[in-house]
Amino acid sequence: MLKIGLTGGIGSGKTTVAKVFQVFQVPVLDADAVAKQLMEEDASLIQSITNQFGANAYVNGKLNRSFIANIVFKDAKALQQLNAIVHPATIAYAQKWITEQQAPYVVKEAALFFESGTDKEMDYMVGVTAPLELRISRVMHRDNISREAVLNRMSKQMPENEKMAKCHFVIQNNEEELLIPQVFQLHSHFLSLSK
Ligand code: ATP
Repeated sequence: MLKIGLTGGIGSGKTTVAKVFQVFQVPVLDADAVAKQLMEEDASLIQSITNQFGANAYVNGKLNRSFIANIVFKDAKALQQLNAIVHPATIAYAQKWITEQQAPYVVKEAALFFESGTDKEMDYMVGVTAPLELRISRVMHRDNISREAVLNRMSKQMPENEKMAKCHFVIQNNEEELLIPQVFQLHSHFLSLSK
């Protein structure tokens, strides 16, 4: 079974593209959603996070996101420590999930691939790109946040052009090119590669 990684900068449209793959009956795993879920539900992760960040990391059994975000926002080492706890568990979950799928190929969607080196576990990488201003306005509307807040999130990520240069295929999610035909073309390509 072929493994396809799907990535792109914030607001590029990864999740939107992932939904189109799902329409074509392709199993899609949202790695960022898995990481969030494991942080809420996995007993050994909860224990490690509590050891690392203290009892305030969870309130009434729920992850205290703003508390953690405040710490890792200011402290790059704390962010690294959090990633060192959450990444291996997410990777293990994804590896198991992949073996359970019955399909010619699967898609794993994640904001960070090249940053964590997990692109090496994929057969092909697909990047989604969109013009900067369009990404900013889409995220401002989606999350109801300011332009500054979007730019701040973006500044924490690898520059989009660098990311796209590392991908085998790039989907243009601008206002001129239609997404569905581009995804369909890739879908046909991956089906033939999987034979
Ligand atoms: P993040 O990294 O923040 O999770 P993302 O790359 O997954 O972002 P999406 O959530 O798919 O991006 O897209 C950002 C916003 O832009 C969403 O509200 C989505 O509905 C909208 N959007 C994405 N692509 C298009 C499009 N082609 N036409 C109209 N709206 C779009």
